[in-house]
Amino acid sequence: MSAERALSLKAMERFERPRNYGPLDQWDGHARITGPCGDTMEFWLKVSDRRIAQATFITDGCGPSRAAGSMATELATGKLVKEALQIQQKDVLQALGGLPQESEHCALLAANTLKAAIRDCQERKQTNDRCSECASAECYSKQRREDESEQEYQDRQALTQRMCRIGYKLLVMSGKGGVGKSTVAANLAITLALAGKQVGLLDVDIHGPSIPKLMGLDDGRAVAHDGELVPIEVGGNLKVISIAFFLASNRDAVIWRGPMKYNAIRQFLKDVAWGPLDYLVIDSPPGTGDEPLSVAQMIGQPAGAVLVTTPQDLAISDVRRSVSFCEKVSLPVVGIIENMSGLTCPHCGGRIDLFKTGGGEALAREMGVAHLGRIPIDPQIVVCGDDGIPYVHRFAESPAAQAFAEIVERITAAHQSQLQSSPSEGDTA
Ligand code: ADP
Repeated sequence: MSAERALSLKAMERFERPRNYGPLDQWDGHARITGPCGDTMEFWLKVSDRRIAQATFITDGCGPSRAAGSMATELATGKLVKEALQIQQKDVLQALGGLPQESEHCALLAANTLKAAIRDCQERKQTNDRCSECASAECYSKQRREDESEQEYQDRQALTQRMCRIGYKLLVMSGKGGVGKSTVAANLAITLALAGKQVGLLDVDIHGPSIPKLMGLDDGRAVAHDGELVPIEVGGNLKVISIAFFLASNRDAVIWRGPMKYNAIRQFLKDVAWGPLDYLVIDSPPGTGDEPLSVAQMIGQPAGAVLVTTPQDLAISDVRRSVSFCEKVSLPVVGIIENMSGLTCPHCGGRIDLFKTGGGEALAREMGVAHLGRIPIDPQIVVCGDDGIPYVHRFAESPAAQAFAEIVERITAAHQSQLQSSPSEGDTA
């Protein structure tokens, strides 16, 4: 029997009897990725003493996906975390003795999902390290400040404890309304959740909350339990809360001025029982008014702002105002997203630039901030928004959904580099 035949038998064996198959109850890292072929792979990892102590996976793909997932878990088990991070598609293919050319992408999906699960381990460890350091930091002071009442002190502690359990807070902003800020916030949150992250979506647009409609939660009502506000869960790892859940009818107008808004937002941030989250995406009203200001002052680090604009609205003054707002409140700008940038022709698939396009990169360069990506116009975004169907979920293969996925990768990378440059950074898993 030739070596090549023996190796392909090895792959065959994993097709039929994949090893390390099934989720772990307790894990240190987790990731789920849907590849361009439509197969989804999910990994769970346990880390001990800087090594991958256990790695498991599941997939809805067929034989080659099972074989590739199995081999990636076998290659990772027992390796140092930093070595396991180096495992690539070619290593999985080599260990399997190759796969048919049309199935080689399964090995890429397995290597990428493994990598994402390792990154997830590292992010969780960094968050935990930060939380325990917080206990001795000024923000979680055991001492009451001279200028605060007992109640204010208790509230500050509660807020800090709540925010400490969130890996990264992302404030989605825009210079003006109608540029797709809420659509972007909702779809970023869903894309992060589809990647296996624990995500919260908070709508602080007190005068025009649109997240409930976009998420199909028009009839959502707030529930309080044990003095906490319970968010509405969507699909297991996405939790949503909006001011609209507190209104008797979604036609009720809210007439609140600055201090009332500040207090409502503080209560949202302090009292919502999110549990530990990897990301909290916050949709704020357009501009640089009370809501984004309150949020920016309360969320603490690590956090960042995402600025949404459209090609026809690429007004330097708008973006400059948002960037200077972020500087004033010490909120790092993660970057600019150019929404409604070009149209994919439904007939020929070609790209039509309805408005001028590409100015986003130049503007980002000029402002010294990152350009996170362009989301094309897709009429289905409007249909999904009106019908309350999460777009990136329904049209996972569309160019716009892929643009969201790429933007999420850049945001995750920005989060990583922010953590690495933070002074409280501990060693990774
Ligand atoms: P904002 O929060 O900035 O006011 P919305 O998210 O409410 O904006 O979006 C305004 C309108 O634009 C909605 O009807 C939404 O469906 C639509 N829209 C947003 N982004 C896109 C896009 N990329 N393609 C097509 N329509 C979009």
